[in-house]
Amino acid sequence: MTDPARIAIVTGAARGIGAAVAHRLAQDGHRIAVLDLDAAACEPVAEAIVAAGGEAIALGADVADETAVQSAVDACAERLGPPTVLINNAGITRDNLLFKMTTADWDSVMGVHLRGSFLMSRAVQRWMVQEGWGRIVSMSSTSALGNRGQANYAAAKAGLQGFTKTLAIELGRFGITVNAVAPGFIATDMLEATAARLGKPYDELLAEFAADIPVGRTGTVDDIAAAVSFFVREEASFTTGQTLYVAGGPRC
Ligand code: NAP
Repeated sequence: MTDPARIAIVTGAARGIGAAVAHRLAQDGHRIAVLDLDAAACEPVAEAIVAAGGEAIALGADVADETAVQSAVDACAERLGPPTVLINNAGITRDNLLFKMTTADWDSVMGVHLRGSFLMSRAVQRWMVQEGWGRIVSMSSTSALGNRGQANYAAAKAGLQGFTKTLAIELGRFGITVNAVAPGFIATDMLEATAARLGKPYDELLAEFAADIPVGRTGTVDDIAAAVSFFVREEASFTTGQTLYVAGGPRC
């Protein structure tokens, strides 16, 4: 049975996990607003979706900017239709040990992950409530369980799990489910940045991580897109307030 086509906004979708999620949801039959800081950077993803027979538009917005978020959500509603799927994926890292972490590094990480997910979810829920159906999936991380050098990022990713549970309680009666995916080590630019910070060759870092992961490999962006796809399905309507760790094992 094919699910009805929905309109999905994927944030941070110009590359990495967000781009893979955008492609996967398009393959699942949904129409996609590919949103990132720079609309031009989203164009190749939107064009590839259209070339594959799907429907997609590129939107530029900083998810931490209230006015930009409202304009982007309005533009999506106008150009594609009412957004009823939201993937809060945009993310940054500003890693440092606590004694070296600047207030700006703390604030910018909170701004993108927490404020950004709050602003996007608040702007989109109006459409979901109106339609009596919605799906919100936010990107947490195994770092939510604690990770050296990531006090800001770990706090934000743990915060997203509480945010997810609370929205699930508030929005369930409107047919809206709210879940989180917590990836482990996924090969993306973000992990390349981690390798650079640790002063290690990227391949060496991946091999080191893989040695500690029960399934014997680091994750791919498609591993994460598959988990998001599940939460968005019609048949996942009784699954809400959950965080699914997609990490090749119970921890990593
Ligand atoms: P990525 O390759 O760095 O992509 C993140 C995207 O988010 C970039 O396109 C970035 O734009 C965009 N972005 C950053 N700040 C934004 C803002 N304020 N507004 C809108 N877009 C913004 O990261 P990724 O590895 O795909 O990670 C995606 C998500 O998964 C993040 O939430 C991350 O924390 C989470 N995650 C990743 C891993 C991993 O191993 N990769 C593990 C656990 C969780 P620019 O390119 O312009 O900066």
